[in-house]
Amino acid sequence: MEIIKLDHITKEYDDGFVALKDINISIESGKFYSLLGPSGSGKTTILRIIAGFTEPSAGKLYFAGKDITGLDASKRHINTVFQNYALFPHLNVYENVAFGLKLKHRPDSEIRQKVKDALKTVRLDGYANREISELSGGQQQRVAIARAIINEPKVLLLDESLSALDKRLRKEMQFELRAIQKKLGITFIFVTHDQEEALAMSDEIFVLNDGTIQQSGSPVDIYDEPVNDFVARFIGDSNILSGKMIRDFEVEFAGKQFECADAGITPGEKVEVVLRPEDLDITATDPKLTMTVQSQLFLGDHFEIKAVDESGFEWLIHSTNGVKIGQEIGIFFDPEDIHVMRLGETEEEF
Ligand code: ATP
Repeated sequence: MEIIKLDHITKEYDDGFVALKDINISIESGKFYSLLGPSGSGKTTILRIIAGFTEPSAGKLYFAGKDITGLDASKRHINTVFQNYALFPHLNVYENVAFGLKLKHRPDSEIRQKVKDALKTVRLDGYANREISELSGGQQQRVAIARAIINEPKVLLLDESLSALDKRLRKEMQFELRAIQKKLGITFIFVTHDQEEALAMSDEIFVLNDGTIQQSGSPVDIYDEPVNDFVARFIGDSNILSGKMIRDFEVEFAGKQFECADAGITPGEKVEVVLRPEDLDITATDPKLTMTVQSQLFLGDHFEIKAVDESGFEWLIHSTNGVKIGQEIGIFFDPEDIHVMRLGETEEEF
């Protein structure tokens, strides 16, 4: 069921800056969504419009089919977890989580039970009497989530909620957030500029740049079938080469012709071709391309190798085996690992 719809939403700030240009988004209930894009792309503005803290300049916002564009934030079944958690430092964990229900004058017994349940959901049972200052970053993050889920919102908005955590804790919280979302069945809309985080957590990702949605889809779709240059570069490492469609199932790049999957592009058209570094295999037999190793980095679980082919293009290759600088290597890739993009869909710069 569609729970939230942004229908031709535009946002022009008072200084004339247009932060969002004709945004159309459909959000289904019970799924985990990410808004992913570089700094300034408009992620927070979208979140604030959904929450009701910012008014769009044009367009409509719907909640379960009802127009809520002008509705007060407090009347929406939507809660937000902010980047800095916005916890009350002078209140303990219990009081922080109970705050919203106390404001609504709910009976004490109900509040006690709901706080207990919420703390259990975020794995903080036993922490009710702790002061906020006595908690780690990850624990504070979980208090903020407990506080946001206690009055059972239909939608939870999370604005760069993991950015204050160190890498290890961040990974742990990614698993936890996903588990909490699955357990509660609430729709999560998660803002991040971290590609890996969005790929790891989401059912669906909206990739934003410069106030427009570049692509939406499942993590696998977005990773495997980027629709343009921006998405291909922003999501993961890529080798992007200029090329030309020779005929159906055949494309030319790096001075050679290769069999490829059906790209639905007219023969003769100029294209850009994306090959992911992990789809390239170093091989001694039947290579598709040969190249000379320029540099190599060891990254713990794989090597990152840079090598230049005969056309002068510098390739990035991920390999579990190391090579030698100056060594000549052969590269193999499958036809379906060649992602062909129409040039009309690419951006010149970003
Ligand atoms: P970040 O990851 O850095 O938080 P973001 O993608 O969330 O970035 P937004 O905060 O939505 O981006 O901002 C989008 C653009 O709108 C930015 O260029 C920002 O400077 C601009 N902007 C945001 N708020 C205002 C405002 N009140 N007045 C004018 N411009 C604003």
